[in-house]
Amino acid sequence: MASQEIETLTAALSRLPGLGPRSARRAVLWLIKRRETALVQLLDALGEVREALVECETCGNIDTTNPCGICVDTRRDARSICVVEEVADLWALDRARLFTGHYHVLGGRLSALDGVRPEDLAIEGLLRRVGEGGIDEVVLAMNATLEGQTTAHYIAERLEAFPVRVTQLAHGLPVGGELDYLDEGTLAQAIRARRPVG
Ligand SMILES: [Zn+2]
Repeated sequence: MASQEIETLTAALSRLPGLGPRSARRAVLWLIKRRETALVQLLDALGEVREALVECETCGNIDTTNPCGICVDTRRDARSICVVEEVADLWALDRARLFTGHYHVLGGRLSALDGVRPEDLAIEGLLRRVGEGGIDEVVLAMNATLEGQTTAHYIAERLEAFPVRVTQLAHGLPVGGELDYLDEGTLAQAIRARRPVG
């Protein structure tokens, strides 16, 4: 029997995406063996994340400032907004330097199965940004999953009320493809060949 402390840490780690109880236990043992090095680094990094990171009230990005570095970067094209499901998708696109406009993070996707409704996502915030004017294009960069595409259709319909060009990532995204798992070449192709919705 492991001690209560180890059980608690293992349980906490096993809730992380992609980490089950077995790999969580392995990670805990690995950290215990490196308590003066890797464990200290991890604690410091976690502490900094907790202290320093905030959610951008404009776009939903996670950064050290609010508004975030992307929203205040005057070299970026503020007339173009790329809508993504999760912050990880924003980071994937931005890492690859594929899109030089601004972003909007929905915080998920519509899902009848999981009970995610439009009001659970940051859709009103997007409509408000577009409604304020100065936006020429909204790029819908949802994942190529059924739920992602349902979400894209819903948002495209809501955007019909505004004088903006609405485009979405080109097909060629693998079906079921999640953006942050794609290689940069595939992502670049999908962005470059984006097409009007509808
Ligand atoms: Zn922002």
